[in-house]
Amino acid sequence: MDNINQNDFSRELLGWFDAHKRTLPWRENTDPYRVLVSEFMLQQTQVKTVIPYYERFINAIPNFHALAMIDEETLHKLWQGLGYYRRAQNLKKLAIEVVNQFNGVLPDDPLILIRLPGIGPYISGAVASIAFQKPVPAIDGNVRRVISRCFAIEDPSGSANSSIHTRIQTLIDPQRPGDFNQALMEVGALICLPTTSPKCPECPLKDRCQAKLLDRISQYPAKLKRPAPKTIPMTVFLLQRGDRYAIQKRPEGGLLAGLWEFPNIESRLDDAGVMHWAQIHDIEMAQVFHIGRNAHRFTHIVWNMDVYRCQIRMISHLAPYVWATLDEIYRSYALPQAFLKLLDKR
Ligand code: SF4
Repeated sequence: MDNINQNDFSRELLGWFDAHKRTLPWRENTDPYRVLVSEFMLQQTQVKTVIPYYERFINAIPNFHALAMIDEETLHKLWQGLGYYRRAQNLKKLAIEVVNQFNGVLPDDPLILIRLPGIGPYISGAVASIAFQKPVPAIDGNVRRVISRCFAIEDPSGSANSSIHTRIQTLIDPQRPGDFNQALMEVGALICLPTTSPKCPECPLKDRCQAKLLDRISQYPAKLKRPAPKTIPMTVFLLQRGDRYAIQKRPEGGLLAGLWEFPNIESRLDDAGVMHWAQIHDIEMAQVFHIGRNAHRFTHIVWNMDVYRCQIRMISHLAPYVWATLDEIYRSYALPQAFLKLLDKR
């Protein structure tokens, strides 16, 4: 290709960033712990959603030592509503490793960072460049879109040996690598939107952008092929005794590990099936209502949930359930959004 002067590219991009970047709490202090927490939270979650969670989390857990010691319930409660709870669990595992193996100091080498729990190529590049000024790419969806459009790159992966990765390595400003990466992310988030009509007239790269010059913006980035999510039918029971609901802890491994849930089974039951389930569990129902169907999508699966509100006349064993009022559920137990939103239907 190319007629693009690397210094000009970097200068224009950084000039735009200095003038237009958003004020974000994790940009005010690039302490490695803070950068790391923000990057974990920002994975698959929007900036405006993350801001209050980030501030609450940093106030409650200000460093790796505190995070390594935090109890699971408090951690889950601080994360509740952000989703993808595995990120919180990995963050704690990572803190324990940093405390035990690195004296509480996060390593600055991206090749060491990437071996820590929950860190992939993107987070390792983001933390190494933003917190430690290492000139390494950090390719998220926004960066992938901007670079693939700007240089008309077909390669969709953004992996370490992709054209996008190689291109950024040639462009990155060694004096300001963290700002350079954040500037690309910012252009992707604010200007080069994932639509067929991004805000090209406002773009600092508009005079260099190959996709724009060729009038082929809609062809970039090339689509990543993702398998369709697997659908799992479920029946969820809102078991009610007076003003208390039955909740139980999910297993320690797998999806939403260690969080709380309403009793459920992975199968779709009708009213008769629900009564049969109750009999097996020695529960006598006073009333059973089918209050609706709700779908909740995770990355690889979709739960199709039939939700029943069941008023209990008699139950042989209160265990293994915890019986909690709505106030207690909201205040003290970390129920993932998939279950919490069912309470709106009750
Ligand atoms: Fe994206 Fe338009 Fe800028 Fe090209 S000119 S990088 S398509 S916003």
